[in-house]
Amino acid sequence: MKSKEYIEWFNKNKTKELYREILKEYFPDYKKCNDCSDVIYYYDSSFGKVKGQLELKGKSFKSTKMVYKIHKLSVCENCLTKKYPEYGSKNKSKVFNQMNYLTEYAFGITHEDATKWIKEKYAITEKNLIKKWGEELGKLKWMQYCEKQSKTNTFDYKREKYGWTEDEFKEYNKSRSVTIENLVRRHGEEEGLIIWKRYCDKQKYTTSVQYFISKHGHQKGIEIYENFCKKRLFGAGYSKVSKMLFDSLSKYFEGYEVFYAENEWYSYDNQSKKFYLLDFYVKGLNIAVEFQGDMWHANPCKYKPTDRPFPFQKNYTAQDIWDKDKNKNDFLRTKLDKLVIIWESDFYSDGIEKTVQKILNEINHGSKI
Ligand SMILES: [Zn+2]
Repeated sequence: MKSKEYIEWFNKNKTKELYREILKEYFPDYKKCNDCSDVIYYYDSSFGKVKGQLELKGKSFKSTKMVYKIHKLSVCENCLTKKYPEYGSKNKSKVFNQMNYLTEYAFGITHEDATKWIKEKYAITEKNLIKKWGEELGKLKWMQYCEKQSKTNTFDYKREKYGWTEDEFKEYNKSRSVTIENLVRRHGEEEGLIIWKRYCDKQKYTTSVQYFISKHGHQKGIEIYENFCKKRLFGAGYSKVSKMLFDSLSKYFEGYEVFYAENEWYSYDNQSKKFYLLDFYVKGLNIAVEFQGDMWHANPCKYKPTDRPFPFQKNYTAQDIWDKDKNKNDFLRTKLDKLVIIWESDFYSDGIEKTVQKILNEINHGSKI
């Protein structure tokens, strides 16, 4: 059979059997699944013609360059789904765009290589800053970073300020330079990397105000940025608005260790193996405040159960979001002495002071301060 007919036939039927036939005929040395030795067949597998030559297509077929090695897809979608059932519900086109445990398994990348790759990608280097911010701003950021490091990360500075010994200084640098390893050691492989990823995303998010300022000037930049936060970024990392609230709230907890914004506390559910980041947490009192964005948490005052408020995940209904949040909050209530939930729209209509009082009232009702 001619390759053209094969392609047409395959595009119509898209079966694994047909796929196997075409591979045998046109790609006799095709790579087989490491786990089941079957063909490596994925949801987006297809064939195309490039310069008259038949080629394998589909995102999943691209080899991927991690660190210095090129890795080829080495297991089939069937085995991947069997080993990690959650793959089935993930956004397929995104799974392989980043390093994670699924990519590791699918491409046969060692965890060591994966960690190295993540470290390299997120390391603060001049090259990475330029990649992220562009030539001019990247260089500026690198200079600022070096200047800050040169002042605050010297032994003299730490000795002066904190009375450190040289050994303590060395130990400190060691613990800083291996953040991923530290997280993985403390939380296990999967969770450690999740926290690390969240941390990196948040860094990106925190600094993005600089981007708006660089584009629009100081005043206008901040205005646009805040608007941007209000409209779109609730739920994706902490928002600048919630930080304003928590700055005020934290004044009432002097003497306690308080966690919010960049310094988030989290709770781990052993049963569901889920990590929950808390927006505001007071350690000695074991109380937390969650700031819920109307869109991200589908405020029932605004959305019907069948609405789909997520802009990026249209398959999520408001009911799905409520169920998810209920699981989360039920779990948190078993762990916390008090959990207070503040809705974004209430916060806008009440303002900071009234909201702070509301939170304090709710906490006082339940107990301790
Ligand atoms: Zn397989």
